[in-house]
Amino acid sequence: MKSVSCIFCKIINRELDAQIVYEDELTLAFRDIAPAAPHHLLVIPKAHISTINEADNTHQALLGHMLLVAKRLAQDENIAEKGYRLVMNCNSQGGQTVFHIHLHVIGGRNMHWPPG
Ligand code: IMP
Repeated sequence: MKSVSCIFCKIINRELDAQIVYEDELTLAFRDIAPAAPHHLLVIPKAHISTINEADNTHQALLGHMLLVAKRLAQDENIAEKGYRLVMNCNSQGGQTVFHIHLHVIGGRNMHWPPG
């Protein structure tokens, strides 16, 4: 199910431009418009799930698939060996600003812990 007002659904439907780097039947990946590091990709499901709180057991394979896509993209970007970070923010205190779940793949610089 798509959400008409969701910008990531619009990217999936090609109603909004994005630098798409990967697509398959379940997911899409594109470059973040405001990169937080030299490499910053977003992996999204084609199904509209607004936050990880809305995920359930029917999404188990999809969520696992997103992680494997993220790993593959890190390899493609040549950041896998040095290291990278996978992040999914949830709701306002978690820093989520786009309410269609997405896995950030961030790399190309040293990461800090704890995150801000
Ligand atoms: P969040 O804060 O975890 O929800 O991450 C949302 C991310 O989406 C941010 O890093 C934004 O820079 C990114 N973003 C927002 N709009 C677009 C877009 O149109 N194209 C690509 N990335 C976007």
